Amino acid sequence: MGTPETSPRAALPSVDRLLRSHETAPLIAEYGLHAVTYAVREVLGDLRADLRDANRPAEIGGVGIVNRVSARLFEEARPSLRPVFNLTGTVLHTNLGRAPLPPEAIEAVAAAARGASNLEYDLGAGKRGDRDDHVESWLCRLTGAEAATVANNNAAAIMLVLNSLALRKEVPTSRGELIEIGGSFRLPDIMARSGCRLREVGTTNRTHLRDFAEAIGPRTGLVMKVCTSNYVIEGFTASADQSALARLCNDRGVPFVVDLGSGSLVDLREFGLPHEPTVRETLESGADIVTFSGDKLLGGPQAGIIVGRRDLIERIRRNPMKRALRVDKLTVAALSAVLRMSADPARLVERHPALRQLTRPLDQIRKSAERLRPVLAAKLDGVASVEIVDCGCQIGSGALPSRMIASAGLAVRPLRSARGGTALKGLAAAFRKLSTPVIGRIQDGSFIMDFRCLEDESAFAAQVASLQPRASVAE
Ligand SMILES: *Cc1c(COP(=O)(O)O)cnc(C)c1O
Repeated sequence: MGTPETSPRAALPSVDRLLRSHETAPLIAEYGLHAVTYAVREVLGDLRADLRDANRPAEIGGVGIVNRVSARLFEEARPSLRPVFNLTGTVLHTNLGRAPLPPEAIEAVAAAARGASNLEYDLGAGKRGDRDDHVESWLCRLTGAEAATVANNNAAAIMLVLNSLALRKEVPTSRGELIEIGGSFRLPDIMARSGCRLREVGTTNRTHLRDFAEAIGPRTGLVMKVCTSNYVIEGFTASADQSALARLCNDRGVPFVVDLGSGSLVDLREFGLPHEPTVRETLESGADIVTFSGDKLLGGPQAGIIVGRRDLIERIRRNPMKRALRVDKLTVAALSAVLRMSADPARLVERHPALRQLTRPLDQIRKSAERLRPVLAAKLDGVASVEIVDCGCQIGSGALPSRMIASAGLAVRPLRSARGGTALKGLAAAFRKLSTPVIGRIQDGSFIMDFRCLEDESAFAAQVASLQPRASVAE
């Protein structure tokens, strides 16, 4: 410490003294000397900065410092990635990790993680295999495709397809489909980075088959169709019929690629949900290649699945970028388990958590809200009112954005509404501070918790006691 010590700073104990104090001994036993030394240095540094800024005398004694060190160590030891309750009303929420995996997939991941596996080893032949071998035949069986491969996510799958089939070539795409997803995925940027030239076709609201017919030429690498899954264009609209566009591409000898986004392998109508085009239907309508995400409606791990014509898939596999965008063994394990499960649609709802949550009967959700309302109302007595609300839930991740699924939950409304919704924000923050943070949404002056995805009601109820609404509201 090179700076001359002023009196309050001089009052702070040294690192050495703190490490030797008997209050610190249990911390060293629990976290190790290295971590405790680091935490002590950090806490003393913070205190010194506080003293310098506020010019306050040191109010904090040795015990106070050790308490801060202990709190810091506890915070650091806790994983930063933690389970939360997704009560947002968006079932496949990108910020909350999208699809929950089925138990079979979790077991497969654990088994693959534990030790060696035949990831790229052909057990029959006793020689090198391909990681795609674990999923390709299942993907073909479930979609009717000739061949299939997998990349890190759907954005990677699209880049790989574009770069493999249309490098330095033009890619005609409708102006109504030049989408942005989640801020960082913008189709025009992805095309540029994949080495392709976007050729915009039609207008924002109307694109006709003849627009494509004019755009396709000797410089065309492929024609791309994107399922504009996170918004709808309404009113005076037109888009080229997919089968007709596929036929046109076929006549002109250019691949027709469809980015399905949330591709479903099963017909959601069988489960009483709105229809979402399946991968099989899209291939049957004439697409040469279809790409979709593994962790959206499929209900698997993050992955980008590419299915379609064998010759095109072979070209994609030979691209050196495939190596850079490949999936790891944990993904292969989980994906393979989910695909096997999808081959048995009759039992899918009981085994597939996302589908189970999406199809949960409304009265069951409302009963859950009825049981939890008094628990929460008692805890929030004098702070906020708690009412049962009917609300609309979304599938999320771009699937059927305009179709809401009826749901129910609780609306928590602060009794005293301060300026700028401070009390409301405080309440939402208090729910986020629980040991399993509760993520809801703020709407019309209330904190809304949608219970469609609340499968463990007792775990939710058990932590209500530790909710600290007042502390947060005062913040
Ligand atoms: C979600 C989505 C993507 C991106 O998929 P990731 O798996 O998140 O990379 C691309 N296109 C469409 C249409 C989508 O809905």
